[in-house]
Amino acid sequence: MTAHTNCPLCQSDGGLVLFRNAFLRVIDAQEADYPAFTRVILNRHVQEMSDLNQAERGGLMSAVYLVEALQRRHFQPDKINLAQLGNMVPHVHWHIIARFTDDKHFPNPIWGAPREAANAPDGEHEAARRNAHIRQRVPAYHEDITQSFTALLAETTDPVPEQTRFEQTLHRIING
Ligand SMILES: [Zn+2]
Repeated sequence: MTAHTNCPLCQSDGGLVLFRNAFLRVIDAQEADYPAFTRVILNRHVQEMSDLNQAERGGLMSAVYLVEALQRRHFQPDKINLAQLGNMVPHVHWHIIARFTDDKHFPNPIWGAPREAANAPDGEHEAARRNAHIRQRVPAYHEDITQSFTALLAETTDPVPEQTRFEQTLHRIING
């Protein structure tokens, strides 16, 4: 594994680590406006998804979908945004962001313009109320991330979770 000295995701965890194995880590992004914001980060320095082999791509996306399902379970968001940009940090990482129609930027990407006050006169207040509600649920969500990832991936060096168990886990999380 080559760690790049000028890459923040090679030099640090990039946030609070909720799960880590040899292949990837799941972190709390620690974004004030989006308390449920989670990232899945490949441990080694790779710039593009197409630099990975098929199993690695599958394993990474399974992790993204597991986080997505857990956000659905804990927050019932209006939408979940999955994003892989890497313009600032060209080291493969996925953003998983629970979105609500009353959050700070909806319907724009969280990196876009905030909602216009004219369109949402009570916007700031709504977003603050929304975040207070989410923050109460974050500890249980984080605990569930750690437990769910550990159950699926801790005992294997394979980047891909066992298919049947993974599908059963997703189904159970989404359907209760
Ligand atoms: Zn890197």
